[in-house]
Amino acid sequence: MSGEGGDSTTWAILVAGGSGERLGADRPKAFVALGGRVLLAESLERLDASDWIDAVVVAVPADWEEAAIVLAEELVASKVAAVVTGGATRGESVRAALAEIPDEALVVIVHDAARPLLEDSMIERVLAPLAEGYDGAVPGLPLADTVKRVARGLVAETVDRSELVTVQTPQAFTAAALRGAYRGDELLAATDCASLVEARGGRIRVVDGDPRLLKVTTTADLALVESWLGRTS
Ligand code: C5P
Repeated sequence: MSGEGGDSTTWAILVAGGSGERLGADRPKAFVALGGRVLLAESLERLDASDWIDAVVVAVPADWEEAAIVLAEELVASKVAAVVTGGATRGESVRAALAEIPDEALVVIVHDAARPLLEDSMIERVLAPLAEGYDGAVPGLPLADTVKRVARGLVAETVDRSELVTVQTPQAFTAAALRGAYRGDELLAATDCASLVEARGGRIRVVDGDPRLLKVTTTADLALVESWLGRTS
């Protein structure tokens, strides 16, 4: 599906192409129920409603494209410019979506559909460093537990956790930095977009993350996010 948005400057990629096997559902994770509708609806609606975002590209598993288009119509998500077929890995899904973004785009935000509770203030927070000259920005959360490096069941090292964060999405990049990062072939190993930009020397700012941006992986995560959402039917 292709539509409006050719002269837009800030694009969002919503990656929903995963199988979500660990949820044990009969459908991809993006299409399991959350608060009375499909999980994908939550982040799609929030991105579409954001004044920071001009256009959205959604990547979904093969054979779920039509369902995503229908969902976008139901939500009256008018900023959805394209729905693409995701790839075998997250990186390939991002690359497929990136191919739909016009050359004129200046900024691209990439968000996991598996993190439904996206606040507009978080979008604003990851965009701000781009105006200061950074190539990208990611939300990071400090670690609560002690961290150890383990080799063959033995502690090899206790790591200084004060320098460590866990990283979430949305991740914001200049379009040039993200495009450059996705030209390479090291996509398979990348678990986020920022690591590819970093590998090319890009400067990535870390901003405060949000514990409620939890990535839904298990049914327990789904129940927790649903309780935070406060909507169960
Ligand atoms: O599998 P995981 O939950 O870590 O994936 C993170 C995000 O990447 C999810 O929103 C998922 O739908 C997306 N993804 C994708 N294509 C894949 C694998 C994951 O779009 N092949």
